[in-house]
Amino acid sequence: MIRADERALVEAVREFARAELPDRDRAWDREERSCAEILPALGEQGLMGLRVPEEFGGLGASVGVYAAIIRELAAASASAAVTVAVHNMVCEAIHTFAPQGPRVRVLGELAAGGELAGFAISEPNAGSDTSRSQTRAERVRGGFALTGSKMWVTNGVSGRWLIVLARLAGEHSSSGGSKELTMFLLDAASEGVSRSAIHGKMGIRGSETAEVVLDGAFVPEEFVLAGPGEGRRVALTALDGGRISIAAQALGIADAALAEMLTYTQQREQFGRRIADFQAMQWAIADSATEIAAAAGLIGQAASLKDRGAPFTRQAAMAKLYASEAANRIAFRAVQAHGGYGYVHEFRVEQLYRDARITTIYEGTSEIQRMVIARDLLRA
Ligand SMILES: Cc1cc2nc3c(=O)[nH]c(=O)nc-3n(C[C@H](O)[C@H](O)[C@H](O)COP(=O)(O)OP(=O)(O)OC[C@H]3O[C@@H](n4cnc5c(N)ncnc54)[C@H](O)[C@@H]3O)c2cc1C
Repeated sequence: MIRADERALVEAVREFARAELPDRDRAWDREERSCAEILPALGEQGLMGLRVPEEFGGLGASVGVYAAIIRELAAASASAAVTVAVHNMVCEAIHTFAPQGPRVRVLGELAAGGELAGFAISEPNAGSDTSRSQTRAERVRGGFALTGSKMWVTNGVSGRWLIVLARLAGEHSSSGGSKELTMFLLDAASEGVSRSAIHGKMGIRGSETAEVVLDGAFVPEEFVLAGPGEGRRVALTALDGGRISIAAQALGIADAALAEMLTYTQQREQFGRRIADFQAMQWAIADSATEIAAAAGLIGQAASLKDRGAPFTRQAAMAKLYASEAANRIAFRAVQAHGGYGYVHEFRVEQLYRDARITTIYEGTSEIQRMVIARDLLRA
């Protein structure tokens, strides 16, 4: 259940998002420009500390409220929504796994919205299979030196704090397995860190995506989130929660696509009638609204389990799988309902269709979600 004060926060975000984001989002998409300019305003509303407890300077929002806010942001800008979602996912991982010193310092910076966080797990040859990570960590005086290449890092162009999965080999040998995988909290302003923006994305073009190259980047001893063998657990724990927010992002995109469909089908006339009077258009609308309600139900279920501290891995995967695939179907219908006008940039559905596409890919592809769901059921 969402409390009255939490409902007011969601309403305030909705109003802000609807007023401030859609036009900017269209420009970020057109010019392939980072949405970072809006982050101070989101920070002022506390959105950069949504999942950070109040004692560390955040809002301490429940997962249910957090998902509702990501949904509202995504309906106005899928790029701003994923920027906030990845940042909060990393904040949560830092809160859960970092030692007290770095936790207080880094969360203070992140929750206030002064700095941005990112999740640097994927590599050129390690995507779905994170156990193939090749980035190396070596012991040096006072900490570790990281060397390797991380791909597709959301918030990676301007993000200051990155959680980085790297392989800490034993003193004399390397096993190559998950036993060496260690999670580090890296200050991306350190020497030995270089990043380059990945351009040419199909959608969410206002969201920063970077390749981050590490060449002996130093991480102090106390900035290790989990030692050898435990790094992958941190990544998977973060992704379990992250999937609820990506499901919410997909749902927001679907909301926007349905809204566009409702408006356009009531304006456009063919054969002397509004196209909304044709049964085919009505079915597209009805199916979309039903799928949105079903996705919202799955997200609500996963969020409520997580809020109660109950296991939620399977439900988060189900929510992400269903909401992301539904968003793609709904965006497809919205383009179809616009006919030729849906195929050009001037109409927003063209962008929504492209923005929806990523949601079945990142934070685990649909195939990986199905694997997670089936494994959980087969283990039960
Ligand atoms: C815009 C964008 C932002 C991203 N942001 C981040 C980020 O912030 N941090 C980060 O670490 N990563 C990020 N990623 C990476 C993303 O998580 C990966 O792209 C995704 O996990 C898939 O990995 P891959 O691209 O290497 O594809 P692959 O793993 O090579 O998969 C290719 C195909 O094979 C299928 N496949 C793979 N394994 C199996 C299997 N066991 N069973 C069935 N099918 C399988 C996949 O489902 C997919 O269809 C981002 C990616 C993009 C495009």
